[in-house]
Amino acid sequence: MNAKVVITDWGFPSLDPERHVFEGKGIDLLEYQCESEEEVIRVVGDADVVMAQWAPVRANAIDAMTRCKGIVRYGIGLDNIDLEAARKKGIPVRNVPDYCVEEVADHTVALALAVQRQVVSVFQRLKEGTWKITPPLALPPLRQSTLGLIGFGRIGRLVAERARAFGMTVIVSDPVVPEADLRQAGATAAAFDRIIKESDVLSLHCPLNEKTKHLINGPILRQMKSTAILVNTSRGGLIDMDALVEALRTGVIAGAALDVFEQEPFPPGHQFLALPNAVATSHIAWYSSASMQELQRRAAILALELLRKQSRP
Ligand code: NAD
Repeated sequence: MNAKVVITDWGFPSLDPERHVFEGKGIDLLEYQCESEEEVIRVVGDADVVMAQWAPVRANAIDAMTRCKGIVRYGIGLDNIDLEAARKKGIPVRNVPDYCVEEVADHTVALALAVQRQVVSVFQRLKEGTWKITPPLALPPLRQSTLGLIGFGRIGRLVAERARAFGMTVIVSDPVVPEADLRQAGATAAAFDRIIKESDVLSLHCPLNEKTKHLINGPILRQMKSTAILVNTSRGGLIDMDALVEALRTGVIAGAALDVFEQEPFPPGHQFLALPNAVATSHIAWYSSASMQELQRRAAILALELLRKQSRP
């Protein structure tokens, strides 16, 4: 095989797992760190396969591909790829749908607990010299709390499994999941509006698309319980951040924990980070030493499969 694989951007310590998969197969691996669509356009022209982590692979970049046999997204979400433009040009798009689902479920619970048990705010208070045996905000027992899940795919259902172990009631909104599946998982189907009104912890696990952009906005936040916590390990664009900051500042909801942001990297001076009832991590929910290796290895195998499929007579 004589093929060119272009990596538009990557955030791993090395590309050794990819090199290992491509070794001896006649693949020329070109590595870039594109941050804009213009940079992507400049590097994808003669790629046989394009591998992208966060770089925007939009219509103009897809248009610039002259012989591309496939695009591989390093990860689960496909929101940085213009799927419609790829479909129109007949370029298959692949992702790695399940390499880190346990990690994301674990991280979701870690974030929910950090805010619900007020770990970060009490630690901050302790560092400032205050020793008190009650936390700053009301703290209902988890076993009497309701977890509302928006999205019950691979990750949502693992979060439900963990929440059930804490004795939480789990209610779910997902347009495609049959009620029998939910019952089996110890969860109950509920309309979106009911989930918003009844959840003590509301956690987002649906994809970001035109229908779900700013799904959580000012009017929705105002329908939530004032004691509720919002958790997002899915995609930042699901939440209107200005509305969330306002809701947290004015006590419309009790707290929020986010791993993902509409703008990433998230600006260090952003008001959200200064709020006492906010917790944030830097899009690390997917990560464990095992999941990262798995992601790179499987993405490279997908690229190889795309090349082989197209080179068959
Ligand atoms: P999945 O495709 O298995 O499940 C998504 C579910 O959302 C589906 O069941 C779908 O029917 C449902 N859904 C779609 N639109 C909905 C809507 N409007 N309301 C309610 N439900 C809706 O995906 P997954 O593997 O569970 O991943 C979920 C999200 O997590 C994705 O957005 C992904 O990008 C994100 N993610 C984040 C990280 C991270 O590091 N933070 C890592 C992996 C995945």
